[in-house]
Amino acid sequence: MVENPDEIIELLNKALSDEWLAYYQYWIGAKIVRGPMRPNVESELSEHANEELKHAEMLTERIIILGGTPILNPNQWTSKANCQYDEPSNPEVKKILQQNIKGERCAINVYKKILEKISFSNDPITANMVRKIMEDEVGHEEDLQNLLEDIEMIK
Ligand code: FE
Ligand code: FE
Ligand code: MG
Repeated sequence: MVENPDEIIELLNKALSDEWLAYYQYWIGAKIVRGPMRPNVESELSEHANEELKHAEMLTERIIILGGTPILNPNQWTSKANCQYDEPSNPEVKKILQQNIKGERCAINVYKKILEKISFSNDPITANMVRKIMEDEVGHEEDLQNLLEDIEMIK
């Protein structure tokens, strides 16, 4: 049993909001992206969308186990999220990649802060889950950065 899980539940619900927004940003980005290496970028973006959805599932399951209620209304996503939803109004491949890189940097920071905040509570299982998610976000940032560098090498 985790003592006083309310603060942890709130942190996880905020992260859950971030994950849904990240999911949609990748999902819609994969549909609209235009420019060099489109097939590669499209599949990387869809893959990341699926992984953000998996993060949302992990967070939701943990919230429930801790006795909390996961966010029930998408209206709350934008107000609860730590990171901004960056509308991909320009479909150009570099622009989309830059927006998502920015999003990943924000996500990495969010999970780092959650780890710091929960390090004093007796909840190693949540801490492990947060570390796993953070590792994925670091991988996402690297993948996008590599794609962007490759695209910038095209003469
Ligand atoms: Fe994520
Ligand atoms: Fe990510
Ligand atoms: Mg990837």
